[in-house]
Amino acid sequence: MQKIEVGILGATGMVGQHFVRFLQNHPWFELKWVGASDRSAGKKYREATSWRLDGVMPEEVADLTVQECKPDHAPRLVFSAMDASVATEIERAFAEAGHIVVSNSKNHRMETDVPLLVPEINPDHLQLIPHQQRLRGWKGQIVTNPNCSTVVLTMALAPLKRFGISKVVVTTMQAISGAGYPGVASMDINANVIPFIGGEEEKMQQETQKILGEFRGDHVEPLAAAVSAHCNRVPVVDGHTMTVSVELSSKPSEQEVIAAFREFRGVPQERGLPSAPAAPVIYMEDRDRPQPRRDACRDRGMAAFIGRLRPCPVFDYKFVALGHNTIRGAAGAAVLNAELLSSEGFLD
Ligand code: NAP
Repeated sequence: MQKIEVGILGATGMVGQHFVRFLQNHPWFELKWVGASDRSAGKKYREATSWRLDGVMPEEVADLTVQECKPDHAPRLVFSAMDASVATEIERAFAEAGHIVVSNSKNHRMETDVPLLVPEINPDHLQLIPHQQRLRGWKGQIVTNPNCSTVVLTMALAPLKRFGISKVVVTTMQAISGAGYPGVASMDINANVIPFIGGEEEKMQQETQKILGEFRGDHVEPLAAAVSAHCNRVPVVDGHTMTVSVELSSKPSEQEVIAAFREFRGVPQERGLPSAPAAPVIYMEDRDRPQPRRDACRDRGMAAFIGRLRPCPVFDYKFVALGHNTIRGAAGAAVLNAELLSSEGFLD
């Protein structure tokens, strides 16, 4: 199969670098184009980028010349990791010019005609695309992936939808890599907890309802569950951990809930998409797991790990969930979205 050429908007930033690494040796996609601001345009990627990830910059990307983020000569499929202050207009310009923009930025996620995808959960929300194109007169399209903590929460909740989710309270312990580079000052985060991440609680609440909502012809009816999020930054490098309490209408047994987590599969698993984990949700029996340092990177960082299911005296059940914030919460999520688009024929 001939590989599909792809580009990255915002390739020099932290998330851009995760895209570069995640796309290395991808069986379907080949990175041919990198874009960034006019501060970087015209330079070789190796000169424009301070490589912050483990290991060395992939050789095949180092010599690419960074381009301005203009649609002109970019490949049809572009991943977006641009600064939120510029993503709205630039992503729109690309979609208007016929590009398929698979965005990691928050800017378009909550627009009613833009799919906010977790391919295991709501692949049917891709049906918003014809509506998006009609409404906006675009030849291209924008699809988005959720915020890095929302994706973990929704992967944990999706198997429980069959029991009727009515209330959710989630408290996060979010890694510092989620704040990008240089992120939170070391004087603030060392041996400390910061009980505020700007805009994060609202994103978790609204995005969760959209992702778990029902597609209704030209829009998504949000899940009618109350979702309350408390978001905290903790001194962990990678991996967002969260404790979750849920109220379920059909009152399943503990065994039924664990079976639901374990049996959960989606379209990416059925179709064997290259970045899909074998099982999207992994239930762990050990009473002190999952833990970010030990578990976040398992399954290439693409699964959600759950443990400590037990009765909740306020709601019905409580448990712990964990996911890799820069892989399943950013670059890996967007690449899986693009694989879903390809398997649905959107890239033909
Ligand atoms: P970052 O390190 O600051 O990178 C920003 C990127 O945007 C750089 O490549 C930068 O290029 C480019 N850029 C800035 N201004 C531009 C312009 N006018 N035109 C074109 N490109 C421009 O930020 P980040 O942490 O990677 O985050 C990128 C996006 O992902 C943000 O929207 C963020 O909210 C989202 N996100 C981040 C994380 C995370 O873990 N950090 C997780 C999920 C989502 P130059 O190098 O040339 O300045």
